[in-house]
Amino acid sequence: MLMLVPRSQAIRTLKGWATAVLLDAGAIRECEEHGWMVDRGNPHARDHAFEIARRDLPPGISSNAAAVVIAEVLESMGDSCPECLSD
Ligand SMILES: [Zn+2]
Repeated sequence: MLMLVPRSQAIRTLKGWATAVLLDAGAIRECEEHGWMVDRGNPHARDHAFEIARRDLPPGISSNAAAVVIAEVLESMGDSCPECLSD
């Protein structure tokens, strides 16, 4: 019997994958103090992230869909840590 992953869980997993790819490429970084993921604003690192994503696609995901998720995750991140800003 086929076990279906609930859609929200699949999306969370996919965003986790995209975050790992972006970190790997150096497109984002994690604030050492607060743990927020922060966009480094580096276009070369972003291109590199899309390359890694195409080579390392999660099962059942097309390269187009993967690129969309990467772009969405990038867009959801600020270019500075919100907690560092509020200090
Ligand atoms: Zn911070």
